[in-house]
Amino acid sequence: MRKNPGGTDDTINSASDAGSGVLAGEVVAEFRGSSLIGRLKEWWAFQTMPRLDWVQLEVTTRCNASCRYCPRTVYRSSWIDRDLSWETFRLLYPVMKRTRMVHLQGWGEPLLHPCLFDMIALAKKAGCVVGTTTNGMLLDRRTAVRLVESGVDHVAFSLAGVGDQNDEARRGTRFSAVLEAIAGLAAEKKIRRQPTPVIGVAYLLLRSHLPDIGRMIPALAGVGVQQIVVSTLDFVAHRDLAEEYLAPADQAAYGQLKFRFEQMSEEARRQGLALYGNLVLPDPEGRVCTENPCRAVFVSSDGSISPCAFAGIPAERLSCVAGGKESNYQRLTFGAINNETLPAVWKSAAYREFRASFGRQPHPLCQNCAKRPKR
Ligand code: SF4
Repeated sequence: MRKNPGGTDDTINSASDAGSGVLAGEVVAEFRGSSLIGRLKEWWAFQTMPRLDWVQLEVTTRCNASCRYCPRTVYRSSWIDRDLSWETFRLLYPVMKRTRMVHLQGWGEPLLHPCLFDMIALAKKAGCVVGTTTNGMLLDRRTAVRLVESGVDHVAFSLAGVGDQNDEARRGTRFSAVLEAIAGLAAEKKIRRQPTPVIGVAYLLLRSHLPDIGRMIPALAGVGVQQIVVSTLDFVAHRDLAEEYLAPADQAAYGQLKFRFEQMSEEARRQGLALYGNLVLPDPEGRVCTENPCRAVFVSSDGSISPCAFAGIPAERLSCVAGGKESNYQRLTFGAINNETLPAVWKSAAYREFRASFGRQPHPLCQNCAKRPKR
């Protein structure tokens, strides 16, 4: 059974309010070793690993939608539905205290989790910039008010097209309902004269929607959206989806697409929107992994630690399409926060080898990944 989150915060309060410096009380409250020496060792282990740029925390793998391109839909027969437990989340407090940003979302809809707002509160208490991504379908007025009052810094709404195009690709969601949710959240910010959360759209550009990309900015301007981040289909879960993967074949195609994005960025700027997009480079030179695996981690809802969300898909015996070929998919995890501390996992030989391989021959999972590491 889940413990009452409110009942467990006091200990953490006393630690985080203790101010800077190493106080014995802080170490006792923050770390989980059975003795003071053990806790001091844990504290020291954190001092000797880099401060992370971000941690992506998978709040749940449950979802109220079934987007046709999502691994959850494609792998539904072996999908594991689960929530991140409050106990596991609390174990991450020392990690959050040493991390710049926490994003509360993985392969599922965060608003389905009964403790989401407690998680936001604890991550804010740890001093993080906190964000989440939602499909928007559960975001009624009450939830909008709670989000504004929670102090969450960023809320992104997922879309994959405009109007019917989105509704067909993102089954179980409606474009019009998402726009209403965005407008409702913007209105609550205005009423409370609160600048946060910054409202974004995480816009998935499928190849078949490329001819209609010009509809995106007019549809999203003036409803409360401040940022649009355009991405392409990074994980192709089935060969039927392979044609939706948008990667320029050569430098000429890359240049055309880049020019189109620059035009859209200019149009977005005129409409008061910021537009960001990452295009896949056509040749391996200069590619980097945008998931920042050397300074960020993904924590699955079972507490396991991976370099990114693509390495932590909660289903079994899967195949996917990578580099144009069908191949077996295997999760890549290096430990679990329920059994070990993050520094212990981070410093393990296997994880160190994985990070070092980026400069040479990347891990097989990364070699054909759409996020593209440098080779
Ligand atoms: S390149 Fe590797 S670390 Fe980067 S997103 Fe792909 S699978 Fe994850």
